Amino acid sequence: MSPEDFAIGVDVGGTNMRVARISPSGEPLKKRNIPGSRDPFAAVDLIKNLVRDMGGARARAIGVGIPGRVDGWTGAIFSGGFLNLAGIDLKGELEAAFGRPTLVANDCGMALVGESRRGAARGLKNSVMLTIGTGIGGAVMESGAIVNGRRCAGQLGHLVVNIGGHPCPCGQRGCVETESSGTALRRHLDEAGYGREIRFEHLLREAEAGDARAIGVMCAWGGPLRAAINTLSAAFDPNVVVLGGGMGQAAIRSLDFLPELKTWYDVDVRLAELGDDAGVIGCGLAALDLISGSLRDKKRLVMVNGVPASGKSGLSRALSRKTG
Ligand SMILES: [Zn+2]
Repeated sequence: MSPEDFAIGVDVGGTNMRVARISPSGEPLKKRNIPGSRDPFAAVDLIKNLVRDMGGARARAIGVGIPGRVDGWTGAIFSGGFLNLAGIDLKGELEAAFGRPTLVANDCGMALVGESRRGAARGLKNSVMLTIGTGIGGAVMESGAIVNGRRCAGQLGHLVVNIGGHPCPCGQRGCVETESSGTALRRHLDEAGYGREIRFEHLLREAEAGDARAIGVMCAWGGPLRAAINTLSAAFDPNVVVLGGGMGQAAIRSLDFLPELKTWYDVDVRLAELGDDAGVIGCGLAALDLISGSLRDKKRLVMVNGVPASGKSGLSRALSRKTG
């Protein structure tokens, strides 16, 4: 059976999993969202069921975005947070199950592919994305390609913005994730004496009305993010920094309350446009790139998760899925 003209994009999270058929122009043709699982093996089964539901064996290619550190060249998964798929050969399992070329990559990188094709970074070759949620995800695009470095470049939530700051699971202190994530906002609110019931909209209204305590929280939360954005601008000189994730809009608003600071590193900061669809769109488009050769650097194309499916031999042997 020859493949039909769509890819399948899967955006994997511990809380939600999203899947969609993606057209070659990046249009989501058919979508489904389901609750995720924190259990890695249950999560892999969910991913397979979702891909099967979408007609996995008929797709041109399959792309999967995973939170945490993923080897951008091979698809190997090193670590996750809320959902930890480390050590699971997801690419091999999906290729064995569906016989289609499969790409596994970091979820924020895939969201940036989506935003750069159809969203806030449309038409721009150099962009940086930060997804602000429970943690902070990151990705860098240079000359139209996601930067992988040796394996998993783009872990921008772990840029240190305060060397004496709060400890981070990565082993450092004062990562921007520990200072400017959604989780950190809750801590800043607690420290300022706000009750658990306070919502961001209320805080914003108070800050806009000039309330010093509310402005203090905005600055404590947004200041480290601004430092990270300026650092990224200094390092990569992007056309745009895109902020996405559930708290992306709030994060952009918080930047308005920071003292004016003219630097060499002022950069266009925009809100992501594709919302929750960015990941599945980017996964689908990146998977199609994998097989179409539309990435300019062919050598790179072959290396980016690029071994075509070759049936079960080797792949199933390579499964590192632990038993028991
Ligand atoms: Zn860290």
